[in-house]
Amino acid sequence: RGAGPRRRITVLGATGSVGRSTCDLLARDPERFAVEALTANRDVAALADLAISLRARATAIADPAVWPELRDRLAGTGIEALGGPEGVIEAASRPADIVVSAIVGAAGLAPTLAALRSAPTVALANKECLVCAGAFFMDSARRAGATVLPVDSEHNAIFQVLEEANRDFVEEIVLTASGGPFRGFTREQLRHVTRQQALRHPKWSMGAKITIDSATLMNKGLELIEAHHLFAVPAERLGVLVHPQSVVHGLVRYRDGSLLAQLGSPDMRTPIACCLAWPARMAAPVAPLDLARLGTLTFEAPDRETFPCLGLAEAAMARGGGAATVLNAANEVAVAEFLADRLGYLQIAAVVEETLSACESRGLSAVPASLDDALDLDAAARHKALEAVTPSRARRGDSQCVF
Ligand code: NAD
Ligand code: MG
Repeated sequence: RGAGPRRRITVLGATGSVGRSTCDLLARDPERFAVEALTANRDVAALADLAISLRARATAIADPAVWPELRDRLAGTGIEALGGPEGVIEAASRPADIVVSAIVGAAGLAPTLAALRSAPTVALANKECLVCAGAFFMDSARRAGATVLPVDSEHNAIFQVLEEANRDFVEEIVLTASGGPFRGFTREQLRHVTRQQALRHPKWSMGAKITIDSATLMNKGLELIEAHHLFAVPAERLGVLVHPQSVVHGLVRYRDGSLLAQLGSPDMRTPIACCLAWPARMAAPVAPLDLARLGTLTFEAPDRETFPCLGLAEAAMARGGGAATVLNAANEVAVAEFLADRLGYLQIAAVVEETLSACESRGLSAVPASLDDALDLDAAARHKALEAVTPSRARRGDSQCVF
């Protein structure tokens, strides 16, 4: 089939939604792919099962408390068991052809930066990396000579239709948004929505954090910032279009009037396959898109008044400096609190807004120029955000959040 030598793949966040879709593709094509390392946060059983069935060389579990259990489960298999956040970074640094970065949140930043230094290609699902430290991240990729391929469906769509030779003729890059479970709701209706309702995404099956981000439209805001860094396009050339069917994933408008789009079923295995096989293509077990059966595709402008998170992200992107880092950290805290039933849906945007203005008035707004800069600003913003949620818990320094 001319696929060339077997590609060695490492999956960071292998037990998550994107991670499992990746492992599914790897398992179907063992002649084409070999698995170098798999990592997870604390789901040892799932990690060990995946590693054994995919014959991975190494694993890493971020939570040190369950590291002994991982070693026990892998005893006698010959699969290496690393532990702790350093273990995840070590796994990310092992030689591989492609590292798939599918950890959720800013926790993925350090391992993904490590991957940029050791792998020629990083397939990036973790958009928070680019929101937290986009300029530094893309600069690190350039210096390491690494290629960053977008897994996020909208960015992958744009990547597929963006003609590098015609960059000067790109008028606009458009990300589509499903609108989430609350499309068409009023602010009044949103006051009482529950975690269960927010977790019921109409089109995509994803991890909890991104599902809530989709319900607030923060996901689209994070994706605008992601696109800004990935494709080096100025904010004013980026647009958002709500498209509830989630069939058209992204569009590029050229100055000759052409509007190029990529279409596909809402299944992450399509963009993941695109990255794993790039620059070739591979087959993926995805339901073919039946346009005649769908009949109608609809598009509408986003409702920024009802869903203020989109505007907050756009403003942070326009402001520059460390505003996007603060936005991301505050949102991670607010979403974790919402998922723990300690914060209402409408308070998510309020906490992000309050944190942004608190950080700005404290002068916490320089653009992160190193990993330490980014992590310091991230930690400071998390503290402020937690203060905005519950002042007493912030004083105890309880600012860790895990999805
Ligand atoms: P998920 O919650 O399903 O999985 C997250 C993975 O990261 C798990 O393997 C978990 O063990 C690991 N993890 C969590 N915290 C960690 C930590 N502190 N240290 C190390 N590992 C940790 O998330 P997901 O939905 O698969 O999303 C992953 C990333 O991909 C996110 O950045 C998300 O925005 C992005 N993304 C997801 C989708 C999707 O369809 N799910 C689509 C586009 C982009
Ligand atoms: Mg997306």
